[in-house]
Amino acid sequence: MSGRLDIVGLGPGREGLVTPEASAALAAAAAIYGYGPYLARVPWREGQARHPSDNRVELDRARAALEAAAQDRVAMVSGGDPGVFAMAAAVCEAVEQGPQAWRGIEIVVHPGITAMLALAARLGAPLGHDFCAISLSDNLKPWPLVEKRLAAAAGAGFAMALYNPISRARPWQLGRAFGALRAVLPAATPVIFGRAVMRAEEHIEITTLGAADPARADMATCVIIGTAETRVIARPALPPLVYTPRSMPA
Ligand code: SAH
Repeated sequence: MSGRLDIVGLGPGREGLVTPEASAALAAAAAIYGYGPYLARVPWREGQARHPSDNRVELDRARAALEAAAQDRVAMVSGGDPGVFAMAAAVCEAVEQGPQAWRGIEIVVHPGITAMLALAARLGAPLGHDFCAISLSDNLKPWPLVEKRLAAAAGAGFAMALYNPISRARPWQLGRAFGALRAVLPAATPVIFGRAVMRAEEHIEITTLGAADPARADMATCVIIGTAETRVIARPALPPLVYTPRSMPA
């Protein structure tokens, strides 16, 4: 049997933003694994098994897919890009810890458009100069490390994309993150809340660090923090353009 696992990025949520190679890998799979809402985005195919799971059991899901991939061709889906706070790392971790036989499984990662790039594309170019991505989830790392990274990145002048800003189980983290950033960055620094970007329910708000209200974010929101150089250009009949200039004065 083929023994192959395709780890597929579905992009932010619009069908046209899935790469043709990713779609072909999904069509060729005997079974598909993934978090339920992501699986629901994959067109139904006769004879293809589906194994939806909860979003907090990533390592178990990775192991189940590898188990199946030892004898068959299976796919695993992630929203956005599978390498950005998602399943590709969970699969690598499971391979590292798992039986020797799993090291013989062909693993192909299909990149997708990650949330921060989808949101940046909506605005202009807020990540047009040096930037970084930070997950605010403290499920897999201690909170003090998150604050340390936020302060260091802001102090170094990086624009930032914040993933996993808030959830029912993590209600205070985004407020604390804004606090840590306000200690380093000017209050006028642009902040963008991008909810369900490039989906039907998309909602984007442009504000400042001084005025940013954590309650404006939910689990489906990516937050971009600009730099002291980031510009917001008002346009009379169109949404503002937000960009971070490509050059910095010496
Ligand atoms: N692999 C995904 C990220 C998974 S972490 C990717 O590359 O996009 C989950 C977080 O991603 C969410 O909490 C949110 O911060 C962000 N996210 C995913 N899809 C999004 C979308 N369409 N719009 C805004 N944020 C999104």
